[in-house]
Amino acid sequence: MRFEILTLFPEVVDAVLGSSIIGRATQNGYIEVNSHNIRDYTLDKHKKTDDTPYGGGKGMLMSTQPIVDCFEAVTKELNGKTKAIYASPRGRIFNHEVAKELSQYDNLIILCGHYEGVDERVIEELSLEEISIGDYVLTGGEIPACIIVDAVSRLAPGVLSDKECYEKESIASGLLEYPQYTRPRTFRGKEVPEVLLSGHHENIDKWRLEKSLELTKERRPDLYEKYINEEKK
Ligand code: SAM
Repeated sequence: MRFEILTLFPEVVDAVLGSSIIGRATQNGYIEVNSHNIRDYTLDKHKKTDDTPYGGGKGMLMSTQPIVDCFEAVTKELNGKTKAIYASPRGRIFNHEVAKELSQYDNLIILCGHYEGVDERVIEELSLEEISIGDYVLTGGEIPACIIVDAVSRLAPGVLSDKECYEKESIASGLLEYPQYTRPRTFRGKEVPEVLLSGHHENIDKWRLEKSLELTKERRPDLYEKYINEEKK
């Protein structure tokens, strides 16, 4: 899967997505992540990419020309099923289901806004879907873009060593994950639960499910209800 990120701050995206698991997945060819500096496409002699909003108001808006030219240059290079999104607090809320949906595409283009956002005609002209990472406002779309790329890439074949890695995790499994422990067996007087040392896999699975159910019921009653109703079917 290929990710194309359109931004005024490619260094932010490159720093985050160039390391750890996503960086390795890129190096190993499971995914491709390219950042594009919108400023490189401006026709303005002073390299301007924004302007004041019509009608007045505080802040600057990103202008149509550099974004549209950047987008069109990027899409020319793409083959396969492509989805284009604009990271925006006005958008559909991003979650595991949306990540799964986006992972079905060959290419994902993400436009990162900055300042007061982008001229509305960019969204219309490029048929962008607005996606929000939550009900709060950040200074730019770079962090949202990294979050979307990270969550979607984890679902791409080869990025994680095993499908089980994400299928059994919080949210994807329908529940929150049970508590996990590693060495040492005792830490500041706190012991690892006995059952996890027993080697009895059936009992361990039973304990883990019980703990997952307990935690989910307490912290996310919405998920708990959904899970229980699904189980009843
Ligand atoms: N004026 C815009 C509004 O009220 O909807 C907010 C602009 S925000 C300060 C600047 C940029 O950050 C946005 O264009 C968007 O790309 C990004 N952004 C901020 N919050 C976001 C969120 N919750 N989800 C996705 N992107 C977000």
